[in-house]
Amino acid sequence: MPKIVKADAANIRKAASIIRDGGVVAFPTETVYGLGCDTFNERAALDVYRIKRRPSSNPLIAHVLDVQMAKRVAIGWDVRCQRLAEAFWPGPLTLVLPRRAEVAPSSIGGRSTVAVRSPSHPVARQLIEAVGSPISAPSANRSGRISPTKAEHVELELADEPDLMILEGGTCTVGLESTVLDLSRSRPMVLRPGSVTKDMLMSVIGDVAEPLFVGQSGSPGTHLRHYAPRTRAEIVDTSGIDHRLMSCPEPVAVLAFSADVVPPPHVAIIMPSDPREYAMKLYDALRHADSLDRSLILIERPKDKTGIWEAIQDRLRRAAV
Ligand code: AMP
Ligand code: MG
Repeated sequence: MPKIVKADAANIRKAASIIRDGGVVAFPTETVYGLGCDTFNERAALDVYRIKRRPSSNPLIAHVLDVQMAKRVAIGWDVRCQRLAEAFWPGPLTLVLPRRAEVAPSSIGGRSTVAVRSPSHPVARQLIEAVGSPISAPSANRSGRISPTKAEHVELELADEPDLMILEGGTCTVGLESTVLDLSRSRPMVLRPGSVTKDMLMSVIGDVAEPLFVGQSGSPGTHLRHYAPRTRAEIVDTSGIDHRLMSCPEPVAVLAFSADVVPPPHVAIIMPSDPREYAMKLYDALRHADSLDRSLILIERPKDKTGIWEAIQDRLRRAAV
């Protein structure tokens, strides 16, 4: 099993030296746990892909302390970037920009652009500071699976990596992957919705193009099936739950807003009605539902599609394909 360690000063120093020496460390961010390596180290990035079993074309996000460090990986930092960073950094917004030549090509799937974000989680920040350089990281799950929002999720997910150090950072408070905004094209475009919503982005930079969700080429990681439990998942409207459960011969797990719609012996996993709380709980709930080993996970469809619910609906759709 990998080792979960307390994120004290000594372990952060140790983690930083592992990364500086070309190794890989799992660490918490406010969105999800990441699997980090030196942004400028080609071999280290390849190791991240191996551990994750991630397709080599799917780029990592470079995590930086601030704007100054972002400029070490990206070029074309203009007034829009500056405004966005002032409004949302540190926080769950990733910007896609033309890359500097020093960025390890393997860490960005050989692309001409790089995704960069400044996380707010104190452990992530202390780690980047201790490394003194950007850390490239995808979510610390096996490719296509549910992102980890607790250190134990990483431990279970990457159980066959005995030497991996996992810095303990509690439950991720955002719980959904960052919003990815592509600024390398003529019109800024959301490639992946997140808790920084399109409206929030528009209030800062005005124009943002409609996101493309299915089969888009701009953001290679956004395959239709993603963030998925092993158990088949299905989304149902509140009014259809009863009918759907009647056709289930065995008890199934249901992510629902209220236990009232889930008659025993089916297992209700109660979801919060507040979108921030829902987002924070979602991946843990899906993992829990998965661990029950039933034939089906039913998910009650949230009625709202606006704000953070848009990102939640996106993740639910991908979990249930
Ligand atoms: P993960 O950290 O696992 O959520 O993966 C990072 C995601 O950021 C990728 O799956 C892509 O969707 C997106 N991304 C990273 N770099 C780029 C890039 N250069 N261009 C477009 N999307 C990117
Ligand atoms: Mg991921």
